[in-house]
Amino acid sequence: MTLKSINPYDGSLIASYDQVSEDKLEELLDKSASQWVEWRATPFNKRKSLLEETAKILRDRKEQYASLITREIGKAINESRGEIEKCAWVCEYYAENAQRFLISEEVATEYSKAQIDYQPLGPILAVMPWNFPFWQVFRFAAPNLMAGNVAILKHASNATGCSLAIQQLFLDAGFPEGTFLSLFLRGSETSKLISDSRIAGVTLTGSTLAGKAVAEAAGKSIKKSVLELGGSDPYLILEDADIDLAVEKCVAGRLMNAGQSCIGAKRFIVVASVYDKFIKKFIAKMKMAKVGDPTEDDTHVGPLASKQFREELHFQVEKSIEKGAVLELGGEVPEGKGAFYPPTVLSNVSKGMPAYDEELFGPVASVIMVDDEDAAIEVANDTNFGLGAAVFTTDLKRGERIASDSIRAGAVFVNDFVKSDPRLPFGGIKESGYGRELSLYGIREFMNVKTVVVS
Ligand code: NAP
Repeated sequence: MTLKSINPYDGSLIASYDQVSEDKLEELLDKSASQWVEWRATPFNKRKSLLEETAKILRDRKEQYASLITREIGKAINESRGEIEKCAWVCEYYAENAQRFLISEEVATEYSKAQIDYQPLGPILAVMPWNFPFWQVFRFAAPNLMAGNVAILKHASNATGCSLAIQQLFLDAGFPEGTFLSLFLRGSETSKLISDSRIAGVTLTGSTLAGKAVAEAAGKSIKKSVLELGGSDPYLILEDADIDLAVEKCVAGRLMNAGQSCIGAKRFIVVASVYDKFIKKFIAKMKMAKVGDPTEDDTHVGPLASKQFREELHFQVEKSIEKGAVLELGGEVPEGKGAFYPPTVLSNVSKGMPAYDEELFGPVASVIMVDDEDAAIEVANDTNFGLGAAVFTTDLKRGERIASDSIRAGAVFVNDFVKSDPRLPFGGIKESGYGRELSLYGIREFMNVKTVVVS
């Protein structure tokens, strides 16, 4: 069985990789388990200096890694550079803060001593997606390596070049062999790995479908799991919104990574009194985005990661139009070798259409008109997902109230598009998953929170 990396800009084969053999898999799992014994005893200061070195290498080799991402998944080069910078940031953040987050805590009780310790669990399997092929890996690896866990990466089958480069990067930074391992395996064969006794926990970032399979396998063997899944983030544009600001942020949030982001802005819920003004400016700005060669500095939207993803997206667009959505912009598959899909705007979107009910993983915006704030909140929450959301209003108190009290999601931003940040917890509710990454919450996910009592 081979895994193929295909450049989505021109369809050329970059490389083929053999799937890991049974014998090799055994060897890797043994290596990971024995390395954990060493690694968990390694002092924080040593781990810290290795992670700082990792950040330095990421910055030094930014162009090399950014062009690898762009070649393998088609991301516009400037966004790929930003992704590498962010990986360096998360390494520095955990190098600086991990020890403080995991310090033992004393609790006042009637015992002579009661203490909470945070201890690593062991080898953690990370099943990762292709859309942020470095960032998703580093936001898992930086806290877990600092915490004393070791990592086994099963990357998306179309991002094997990135997977190998990350493994090599950790070795170059000085991490001992076995602390971070990449293995090449199809997603459908991952369940057997989860049940292996050498694996202590599993984290998956990917689709809800894959999340259900991983949760089932983890549940069967009582393993801790974290799931970062899909989203259909609602963006509420209220009657008192600064429309120019809303348009700028909504377009940026929708076109990030050619629309292939879990926290991409997906449903735009606009109050009727500002609907015409918003949609006119929104369409104009979507139209202006430069689509093209992802290696060029001024390209905003590159190709989708594969032609198969494009077909799936186009099917959802066509189905929505069949059911009454109005095509305002784009919506046609272009001729040519790349997996391009144009920035697309659908209006008159309503329940029962894929554009309302499902995640659209590409540069397609679903616009929904509503009467007022209450109706906007109802539509925003009318989804199986609960990852991110945004509210646009010039009344910041009102925005904060809606964000805090009314929207059911893992993160709600007022007057900006949703972004992950090492300092803030990240994750979803409902079918967007469970558990948190980043911040204090992320580093404690795969720890034994141990109670020690001395009578
Ligand atoms: P995907 O098809 O679910 O793949 C993600 C990973 O899961 C890949 O490594 C894949 O391996 C593996 N996988 C697939 N089926 C599996 C199964 N039955 N059991 C175990 N592993 C399985 O998702 P994708 O297309 O790469 O990424 C897009 C999705 O990820 C979107 O839904 C997006 O919203 C979500 N996402 C969520 C977040 C978040 O933080 N919440 C971040 C980024 C992306 P193969 O490649 O070998 O199939």
